[in-house]
Amino acid sequence: MSAADARSVAEARAPGDVPLWVHPEWAERFPGIVQGTTGRGDEAEPFDLGLSGQQPVGASLNRWRALLRATGMATVAHARQVHAADIWVHRERGAPGILVMDGFDGHVSDRAGLLLAVSIADCVPVFVLDPESSAIALLHSGWRGTAAGIVERGIHRLVESWNAPPERLWLHCGPAVCGACYEVGPEVHAGVHPGREPPTANTPIDLRAAIAGRARAQGLPAEQITVSSHCTLCGEPDFFSHRGGSPGRQMAVAGVRG
Ligand SMILES: [Zn+2]
Repeated sequence: MSAADARSVAEARAPGDVPLWVHPEWAERFPGIVQGTTGRGDEAEPFDLGLSGQQPVGASLNRWRALLRATGMATVAHARQVHAADIWVHRERGAPGILVMDGFDGHVSDRAGLLLAVSIADCVPVFVLDPESSAIALLHSGWRGTAAGIVERGIHRLVESWNAPPERLWLHCGPAVCGACYEVGPEVHAGVHPGREPPTANTPIDLRAAIAGRARAQGLPAEQITVSSHCTLCGEPDFFSHRGGSPGRQMAVAGVRG
């Protein structure tokens, strides 16, 4: 599958003070689902949600609370990410507030009022939704996570735990570094495209197209797979970019409305 095969969608900034960029088709088709990716926001006071950088943690936590208010959710769950493929299934909404866990790059839940959050700054946020059960997976899929199979594991969770046949699932790859900007070595190509002869020198790779192809291979219909047109590096300065030298972190968020 080439990049041209994955349908491109431009997230639009939702109205309000919190810079949340949402998939316009999902917003219309799945009104019971919260989905989006936060952006950089105002230049004077960027909407940095990072919890481990230089900024005072109090300012960051206030932005997390603003994000909860803006989405109408009670609890937000986030984990320190390790570029692996472990996924936590949230069986309960949890107590109101901000839950920070350790060592997971993916979350799955169908609990109303629970907002799942993964930190993104060039890696791909992958949203996988079963509209029938409202179970949703949110995955942080950089090249290492992609190579480790986090997308396949997220899909399998929905198939196994919610009896969702793959043809029922919808998948979206959110704002991330684009295929023109992400020049990487042969080991990355080998990890992302196993079985394909890797290039011998640094070559651009389109991670989102690769993820879309992996989803197709799991049985998801092409018309239910979309890829964001936003690039965190070469696009408008709406998002933080790690490769672009920005220490800020945005969050991809998803959940069932409370
Ligand atoms: Zn780009």
